[in-house]
Amino acid sequence: MISLSNVTRRYRAEDARPALENVSLTLAKSGFTAITGPSGSGKSTLLHLAAGLDRPDGGRIEVGGETISDMSERALADWRGRAVGLVFQAHLLLPTLTVAENVMAPMEFTGSVSRAKRGARASELLATFRLEELADRLPSQLSGGQQQRVAIARALACDAPLILADEPTGNLDSNASEVVIKALRQIADEGRTVVMVTHDPIAADAAGTRVSLVDGRLAEKAAA
Ligand code: ADP
Ligand code: MG
Repeated sequence: MISLSNVTRRYRAEDARPALENVSLTLAKSGFTAITGPSGSGKSTLLHLAAGLDRPDGGRIEVGGETISDMSERALADWRGRAVGLVFQAHLLLPTLTVAENVMAPMEFTGSVSRAKRGARASELLATFRLEELADRLPSQLSGGQQQRVAIARALACDAPLILADEPTGNLDSNASEVVIKALRQIADEGRTVVMVTHDPIAADAAGTRVSLVDGRLAEKAAA
């Protein structure tokens, strides 16, 4: 489902080493992969590349049979909309929309869920993350952990085949973390591809595959 071949990303020519160096990696469709490694080891860079939010300086990236590293910006944006659900710190909730409206926004944007079904789909997702009572609030009226769960519900809204999450349990207490990890695990078990960057050993253990990065290189890839 995801295949990186000799992928290198160097943000600045003067950097002593690239953020990612010659990384080759294949992740099966239908699976839950955790990417671990020290801060600065290239985890977010790898996820951004897999999401088509950034491009490699060398190498090739294929996702679901499409070579995203060769796509035009326009094709890439279109692909992202239909193929990827993102849970990234940089993609925060829209502040003027309610919780429910935030979850419905991608359904509207991609047209993947008919207008009549959007409200019900949002309610279902909010219930999964125990957020149903917060549906009409604005993001600013939620705790960090609640916002994080809304962001995850939103990432799942369009049933994208690939879910990418950068530290999805980063702001959560252990109960909320468990809810999130269980949901990601279930999505993977249902046949989607879930890739999660995490520092949390419990979250990493819930994944079937672990990929470790050190200084922009692959440290290991072991099936649990
Ligand atoms: P991680 O997510 O593992 O903490 P990152 O992928 O964010 O690591 O960063 C890997 C390396 O690339 C770090 O040295 C970081 O400082 C650098 N880096 C990340 N993003 C940028 C950027 N947009 N411009 C320049 N350097 C960056
Ligand atoms: Mg990071």
